[in-house]
Amino acid sequence: MRKPFIAGNWKMNLNHNEALSFIKDLSLRFNNKNGITIAVCPPFTSIRSVALAIEDEKFKSKDFNIKIGAQNMYFEKSGAFTGEISADMLNTLGVEYVIIGHSERRVIFKEDDELINKKIKAALSNGLKPIFCVGESLETREKGNAVEFTLNQVRAGLDLISPDEMAQITIAYEPIWAIGTGKTATPEDAQQMCNSIRSKIEALYEKNVAENTVIQYGGSVKPSNISEIMKMPDIDGALVGGASIKTDDFLALINY
Ligand code: PEP
Repeated sequence: MRKPFIAGNWKMNLNHNEALSFIKDLSLRFNNKNGITIAVCPPFTSIRSVALAIEDEKFKSKDFNIKIGAQNMYFEKSGAFTGEISADMLNTLGVEYVIIGHSERRVIFKEDDELINKKIKAALSNGLKPIFCVGESLETREKGNAVEFTLNQVRAGLDLISPDEMAQITIAYEPIWAIGTGKTATPEDAQQMCNSIRSKIEALYEKNVAENTVIQYGGSVKPSNISEIMKMPDIDGALVGGASIKTDDFLALINY
């Protein structure tokens, strides 16, 4: 049985003070009626204080169970990699999830499938759970190559990942043309791709692994479209950017 999972990708938004206000506001009005898994992925600069603020609120109300994710990491253990953060550094901060292969990393920072695969392996060996992002550009979709392109990213990113390790990985299907643009894939199109991803996991591993893999959709998910998206049989959750940094919207998403 796959548990719904909604994660907020704050991207380069909310400074340290704004991050703390967000958590305070969220905790005051928190409700998780569906009992889903929830994570927030703040910028590195506020991960520690957000983690402590969540612990504090959880002490007052056990229900305030929000996991912490990071938005990126580097695969090396330590050393001369100015500006980078290792998986171990995240783990010791209480981080549980890490977004890997987000399209903004792929497109702006030129991350390729090989690097993404190394990051996934490093995350797993340090006890972090990757949220592995895949998805096609508008140009690829218009050429009719969206499925082939996305499944190729799935295969390359999961190279030499064991079936046991797959249990720790969430896949986020995020068509690039839908991210931050206000355009959303139709629930049917998103379902079709998530179904193809699940079939690919089955082909790479086995049915049982595919059936247990949590697959999120991401791309302009908002309170007005989440319930239709969550009805789709192969969509188990959402990776949310813009709507995750407004408490009203995030609360509405959680309680879709
Ligand atoms: C994202 O950043 O992963 C994302 C899906 O952004 P948005 O919800 O703003 O489209």
